[in-house]
Parts: sequence; structure tokens; C-alpha cells
Amino acid sequence: MNLNDKVGSLKGIGPKKAENLSKNNIDTLEDLLYLFPRKYEDRRQETRIADLQPSKEYLICGKVLSRRYAGNPYKKNTPLTLLVSDETGTIEILFFNGRYIANLFNVNQDYSFYGRVSENFDRKQMIHPEFHRIGDPNDIRGIIPIYPQINGISQNELRKIQLQLQELYPQVEEWLPEEIVSENRLASPSYAIENIHFPKDGKQVLKSKFRLIFDELLTLETGLFYIKNETRKDTGGIVIDAACADEFAKDLPFELTEGQKSVWNDMQKDLAAEKVMNRLIQGDVGSGKTVIAEMAMFAAAKNGYQSVMMAPTEILAKQHLQSLSADFEKYGIAVGLLCSSMKTSEKRETLQQLATGEIQILVGTHAVIQPDVKFKNLGMVITDEQHRFGVNQRSLLSKKGENPNVLVMTATPIPRTLAVIIYGDLDISQIRTMPRGRQPIKTLQADMENRNRVYDFVKKQLKEKKQAYVVAPLIGESDKIDAKSAEELHKELSQKFKGYQVALIHGAMKQEEKDFIMSEFSDGHIDVLVSTVVIEVGINVPNATVMVIENCERFGLAQLHQLRGRVGRGSDQSYCFLICHNETDVAKERNRIMCESNDGFEIAEADLRLRGPGELFGTRQHGLPEMHISDLVRHADVLEKAKNTAKAIIDRDPNLQAQKFAKLKNRIRKMFGEDIKLEL
Ligand code: ADP
Ligand code: MG
Repeated sequence: MNLNDKVGSLKGIGPKKAENLSKNNIDTLEDLLYLFPRKYEDRRQETRIADLQPSKEYLICGKVLSRRYAGNPYKKNTPLTLLVSDETGTIEILFFNGRYIANLFNVNQDYSFYGRVSENFDRKQMIHPEFHRIGDPNDIRGIIPIYPQINGISQNELRKIQLQLQELYPQVEEWLPEEIVSENRLASPSYAIENIHFPKDGKQVLKSKFRLIFDELLTLETGLFYIKNETRKDTGGIVIDAACADEFAKDLPFELTEGQKSVWNDMQKDLAAEKVMNRLIQGDVGSGKTVIAEMAMFAAAKNGYQSVMMAPTEILAKQHLQSLSADFEKYGIAVGLLCSSMKTSEKRETLQQLATGEIQILVGTHAVIQPDVKFKNLGMVITDEQHRFGVNQRSLLSKKGENPNVLVMTATPIPRTLAVIIYGDLDISQIRTMPRGRQPIKTLQADMENRNRVYDFVKKQLKEKKQAYVVAPLIGESDKIDAKSAEELHKELSQKFKGYQVALIHGAMKQEEKDFIMSEFSDGHIDVLVSTVVIEVGINVPNATVMVIENCERFGLAQLHQLRGRVGRGSDQSYCFLICHNETDVAKERNRIMCESNDGFEIAEADLRLRGPGELFGTRQHGLPEMHISDLVRHADVLEKAKNTAKAIIDRDPNLQAQKFAKLKNRIRKMFGEDIKLEL
């Protein structure tokens, strides 16, 4: 038996099962060793029936006293009840598929049962426990591993497979250099593998887990540091003297907030250095990130360089064009737009003006990363709402110039610990202050009973010439999902708000149509905008003071917070109503958090707690490889250690050329796949 043997070489794994394993990326015996238990069941000791507590899992042993059917014993699905006793008491064991299982039990024989105890009136019950006849070779005592579900292969089979693989443990070699092992007091890989599958006590599990999590996170971090090292250049960057932007800032109708000033300070240092700037600005919606971008572009222009700013939607790009044109006009700085919906002739003209350097600042959508877009001397590259773009798109944009400075902005409030990992190749600045005079948005919950009062309130705001957003989770009606659709709501609200302009906007509309409606809303010609989540990103209409979210239970916290951020952008009090149609526990908790906090970072932490990081950040979505055993949030302490080790490795050997890192390099390659190019 060999680590590299295919799974099909094992007894009991035919082509069908091999295929199912392969679907889970398990092809070799080594892959199987790395299929770790998802949890354990403690079946070391049996518990006396008298000592059982409800809603916990136990192993019990006892004699079957009787078998009884609840109904017609000849029907397949008639439940079967066993009465089982030891010398301390009796318990009922219930199987719903009675007929099928009844023959496996003999009265007066001893069996073991493992399952959760429940209470049915005064009687203790176990429903569908695992069971074995006492003396059966499969009746394993000990800590039993429970593996992730794999189609067509039962837990028992998985356990048997792992038993067969024990023969391989001696082949599992140490792959890290000695000093890293001793410094971090790591168990050996073969110890870790053995004890993750078949531990004898909890301590062994912890020790093994630590080793395996460390391995995974070290591989991740070393890979990320490698990429960071590759992409960030310490020399050859475009040097920009950004002091001139003070002039621009002075002319703004407001003073920069403390947060803005400190971010600008970071950036000014970056720009003055030979090192290429690679900075992420994280700031809640409305915290004023755009102004910072403008200052950077202003400085670039004054130093003779072009800038480009990429936004995820056309609406947003056009909005940026408007404010940028207005802000730069008096300085004679030319701003251009590039979107895919533009006419070919318009595009051609823009492209030409870019190539000659006539356009100093380009705003646009994905169109700006197309191959035909060429700059004269690009010095500043900005991505707005970066979470909407892949890592790849960001780097395509950078390649439009020669080591241009890079600024990315996001309103996704990711806790710092996690941001450091997700944006491992970037330096991070946060804006945690809001512009002065901004009143916190009042957030209120409603349900179906007081829903009408919400719209009465909206009407009052409309009378005061304010505007409102109403968001629904669906576009049109659906048979399958019971939730408000934007179309339905549009009809209902058009009736309710007679004399006011109620418009509908949704993702399935044509781009021009959406843009037209958005600009009408922005110009105040539309009073109520009913929409799906298309308005989630970046739109700025200060006169809109009400956000109503129907079926709020269907949105995640981060999304609710983003939606709420569409209002509260002017000096007037703004409101957000969360209308709950189906009050689940999670929905209740989300609403509570929304009502209590306006701070995106706080909300992000809460979202992590409620949903778990995997769901929220979809690590893949951010270009991070999938983790098997580690949880970037829960294992933050191991992560810290792994990160320090990784940093030390890359500092000493940036290309991992030393022989002792050969295996680490292989692992990085395996984890990152195509995303990484490691020089051999
Ligand atoms: P976001 O960070 O969500 O992109 P924006 O950059 O769109 O936020 O800014 C939101 C609004 O706040 C804009 O109208 C902008 O002009 C205004 N703003 C930005 N900075 C300040 C400030 N320091 N004081 C007052 N208003 C500001
Ligand atoms: Mg913005």
C-alpha cells in the first residue's frame, strides 16, 4: 500500500464509490488520510440507563425485553419500539422503519445503542440510535470519528476504510524543517494523522488538530506572502509628490474627517516612496472614500500621470463621472468615461484621447480592463467597491501601466484580522469616522401587523419633499418563494401614494432603462423607488431619507447594512424600516443588531458570529483557496503563529529555493492551483 495509490485499490471501493470520492477531490489514499472527521462521538464508556439526561448523546448497553409494533406489523413503515433495560432502569428505543429492522433484534439478547436521549412524558427514549449486538466486531468502543458525508459511502464504511489505511501511517513523513517543528512544538504529521482519526482522548485530538491546522494555515500564509512579495515592488514605483492635493482639499466645501485625514496621511507616504503603493481603504458606506480617491488622482495629474477608476456598475461609474468632472473642472483636469454601453464612435474617441494623454482621469466599468484600452502614462489605479471584483480583475487593471500605484476601496466591513488575510497583498487603512453633521439612521422593525403604519410614515416624508427607497427580495411573483416581489410592491405603492411618482427598477432591466430611472430618482423626479438589490452599491442621493426593506429576513446582515447605507447621506434625519414577514430566530437577532448599531465593523463582527465566515465571505469569492480543517476566524491564534512563521520564511527565502522548503512549495502549489506561479 502506497500513499499515491488510487482509492480504487482499496478493498470495498469500486468504480462507483471511487467516483463519489473523486467528486470530493479524493483520488489517492493520501487524500483519504486527509479526509478528517467532522466530529467525534465519545463511546468510551457506557452510561447506566438511570443516569441518562435528556438531549445528550450516550452509549448504553442493555437487554431487549420486548419488541412491539405501533400498528399493523405487516406494513413496512410501522414503527417498532424496543424496551431495553440494564440493572438500573429501562428505556424505549424507537425505529420508524420497524419491519425492516425488527429481525435484527432478539428478545433477551444484549445490545449496545448510541444516540440522543429524549424524554416522552416520563419515559426516556432513544430514536434511531446506532446499535450493535454485544460482541459484534463492529461494536467499537472509544472515541468514534464521524466523517463528512460522502454520497454512497456510509459512516461505517468510512471508518473501515480508515482502519485499513492505518498501515500507511509510517509513510507519512515530516515535511517541515526541524526548526519550525520545534519552535512551534508541533506533533509529527504521522502522529497527527493517526490521532485525528483514532484518538484515545481529547488531548490527542487537540494536539493533532493544532498540527494539521497549522500546516494548512502555514501553507496559505506562505503562499499569500509569496504573492504579496511578487506583486509588490519595493523599487521602480511611480513617485508622486502628493502635497499638492492639500490645495484640492482646501477647496472642498467641507473639512476632511479625522479618518479621512489619517488615510490620506498613509497614502501620501506610500506615494512619495519608490515602493509601489498597494493600499486598501475600508470605510463604511458614506464615510467619504471617493474624496480620498479624488485627492490621489489630483496629485497624480499634477505630477503628470493618468489615473483610472473602475466601478462595478454603470450607474456608479456615471455618478463618479459627474462628481469628478464637477470637482476637477476648475483645475482644468480632463475626465473621461468608458462603459460598454457607449457607442463605438464615442468609445473610439475616448480610447484615442487616453492614448494621447488628453484624458487625465478615466472612470468606467469593466470596460476599462479590455485589451484595447491603452494609457499614455498610467500612474494611479483605483478600484471602487472592490468586493465586486475578482483579484484577477484588479491585477489586469494594474497591468495597464508600469508599476502604477494601486488603491482599492471597499465598504464591506470585514474585521481586520480577516481582512489581513483576504487582502494579504495589500496594506490596509480604515475610515472609522463619519462626516460631521451626519445623523445616525434611525432603524425600526415592523411586521405584517404594523406594516401599514410604515407606509403612512413614508407618506409624511414624501409630503416634506423627501424621497424613499423600498426594497423587495424578488423581481416578480414566484410560486416557490413566499416573498414580496418588486413588481407587486410597485403596484401596491402606486395605489397608496397617488399623486407621487413611484418607479420600479430591477436587475433584469436593460442598462439604459436602469440608468434613466436612477438619474430621474437622483434628480428628484421620482419620489419612491421600488427595487431589488440593484441599488445596493454606492448610489448617492442625499435627499432620500427612507429605506424600507420588505422581507428583511431574506437578507444577510451585511446586505441589510449596505442597503441602509443608501440613506442618511444628507443632513436630515433618515430612517430604515425592516419589515419582517417571517420572524425566525436569526432574523430577530439580525434586526436587533441593525436597530442597535450603525457601525459597519461592529455589524460585520456580529455577522461572523451569526453565519460563520465561510458563508459571509465565501473565501473562494475573494480568491482564497478552500480550507479543509481551519476556520480563519475560530483559529485566529494558530493563524497568527502560522503567519509569523510564513513571514520569516519568505523574508529569508522569497522564492522558497532552499531544499528544505521543497515540500512546502509543493503544498502551496497544490492549495493555490492555477492562481500561483512558483518558480522552480
Ligand atoms: P462612500 O465612502 O460610501 O463611497 P462617498 O465618498 O460617496 O462615500 O461620500 C458620501 C457623501 O459624503 C458625498 O456626498 C461626499 O461629498 C460627502 N463627504 C465626504 N467627505 C465628507 C466630509 N469630510 N464632510 C462632509 N461630507 C463629506
Ligand atoms: Mg463609494
